Amino acid sequence: MANPANPIDLARETIKTLTTRRLPPTPDNYRLIYDEIAGVASHFSDEARLLRKVLHLLVEGGHAKPAVLKAAEKNLAARDWKALEEELAAVLGAKDGEPADWGNLVRELVRQWERKQSGLNMPKKQAALERVLINFGSDAAALYDKLKALVQAWADNRASPVGVPVAEEEELATEGETPLPPAEAAPSSPGAASAEDLGLLREIVAQSLLMGVVPRISQFRDLSEEATHLAEAAKAAQDEVALRALSKNLKQFWIKLALRNETDAEVLAGLMRLLRLLVDNMGELMADDQWLHGQVEVVRDIISQPLNLRVIYDAEQSFKEVLYKQGVLRQSLQEAKETLKTMVASFIDRLGEMTTSTDDYHKKIEKYADDIGKANDITQINRLLADLMTDTKGIQLDIQRSRDELVETRRRVEEAEAKVRELEAELDEVSAMVKQDHLTGALNRRGMTDAFEQEKARAERTQAPLSVAIMDVDHFKRLNDTYGHDAGDNALIHLVNVVKDVIRPTDVLARFGGEEFVLLLPSTEVEDGVHVMVRVQRELTKRFFLHDNQRILITFSCGVARWREGEAADDVIARADKALYLAKESGRNRVLAATE
Ligand code: GH3
Ligand code: MG
Ligand code: MG
Repeated sequence: MANPANPIDLARETIKTLTTRRLPPTPDNYRLIYDEIAGVASHFSDEARLLRKVLHLLVEGGHAKPAVLKAAEKNLAARDWKALEEELAAVLGAKDGEPADWGNLVRELVRQWERKQSGLNMPKKQAALERVLINFGSDAAALYDKLKALVQAWADNRASPVGVPVAEEEELATEGETPLPPAEAAPSSPGAASAEDLGLLREIVAQSLLMGVVPRISQFRDLSEEATHLAEAAKAAQDEVALRALSKNLKQFWIKLALRNETDAEVLAGLMRLLRLLVDNMGELMADDQWLHGQVEVVRDIISQPLNLRVIYDAEQSFKEVLYKQGVLRQSLQEAKETLKTMVASFIDRLGEMTTSTDDYHKKIEKYADDIGKANDITQINRLLADLMTDTKGIQLDIQRSRDELVETRRRVEEAEAKVRELEAELDEVSAMVKQDHLTGALNRRGMTDAFEQEKARAERTQAPLSVAIMDVDHFKRLNDTYGHDAGDNALIHLVNVVKDVIRPTDVLARFGGEEFVLLLPSTEVEDGVHVMVRVQRELTKRFFLHDNQRILITFSCGVARWREGEAADDVIARADKALYLAKESGRNRVLAATE
């Protein structure tokens, strides 16, 4: 404005303001604005002034928003009494001018509570609602607002409603440092953690790191040490600064760990690809070696499944079996080959001897012929002939002996060759044929699979029940660690002997891997299967395993399941395995029937 004191300027400004405020240019309005611009004491009536004062107080006391005051003043100035009345009614009814409609709010809350929103599960909803109730439960109006915002957030499918403090914290936490609740709010706010709670939380963080994380990352020494330090820091963190630092360090640690794991997984995947490539090529190269072909097939089979510890363990077991059997066969084959070599060598020696002796013979004959040619008297010739006769006889005998020896050698060579062929054929089939566990004499997995197919067919044919038990020696690692691996092996042999003595001849016992055994119990209901296995347990308490004259009690846990028509071996074993797991969980040395 050019000059606020100049009435012409004031008039021009008043008209401009009337236009911008969209007020009708009534004389009252003109005067009102004119006074306002001129800064002249308002022409408001006493009632209006009182009303303004009340409105100001409401705003100052936080019972109405400044925007409400502004609107009310405008209506007051415009003498728009109807609008003003609505404004005031709203202020008195609910703070932001909207009357609290609890009925609708509760209805909507229930609706959104039951609705499924992506990324919002029930625990999240529950937590958000609890936060609102705890923080605003004592202020009905605030509670109404916050609940409404929460319900709206759910309806918009947002995880964190605007205006709910803890949810805001969560949002912030994903962006930067984890914020902590304001220090002064801690003791008084009903939802805040007490010093005792905080201590407990710190202990939980430390324990999770020490017991949950450290043992699983022992291969990364640096990270494992860092986790241990963090656990110590968590225990020691007493103030907000320490907690903030801990939170920051923890976050960095998780990121490092995630990156390290990814690298590991990549390396593993790469190695597996390489192994597959190698195995495929090996198969091509060794087309004529049946035995190696069998081996390659086994490896190919194993690595075609998703890799886990069980698969690796199975692979190791099956290789050990094959290697053992192969070792035995290779030794016999070696012996047979050695014999063959000796035979061929002696054959060649004999041949050499024979050539020499026949050579001698020729030379002698030639000499005799020569001497005879030169002989002058019959006595001389007679003597020569007599010598010739003796020599010829000797040579004949030599030849006969050599011939006999040659025939014998050839027979033995042929025999050895046949043996070699036989052993080689056996070796060729070994990787496909081994069905027995060489340590305990029980069937191995392959043997068990075959036996299962037979028992399954029988059960289907006769409609008789078939139960499957899986047993696992309790604390077998401890036995190995205490008495040595050989003692562990002997304990397994002892266990198999005891089991075989208790079960029926028609029952099938197979070593499933390590210290786990599977039993197929034909014509047996699951309850009877449980009884059989309990009998085995009892028998073990009578027949101790002896090691260095020490009596060692072997116990096992066991799960039994009844085979269902059409069910595959893996599935019924998996059900029995669940029961075995429960048996271990509930204290070991017990037999449980599968519940599903
Ligand atoms: P749990 O009661 O939970 O079954 O404990 P555990 O110690 O028996 O179980 P875990 O599976 O941890 O250990 C099994 C051990 O069996 C580990 C392995 O060294 C040992 N083991 C597996 N196969 C053989 C084997 O052929 N001979 C010997 N001596 N030990 C074996
Ligand atoms: Mg085990
Ligand atoms: Mg065990």
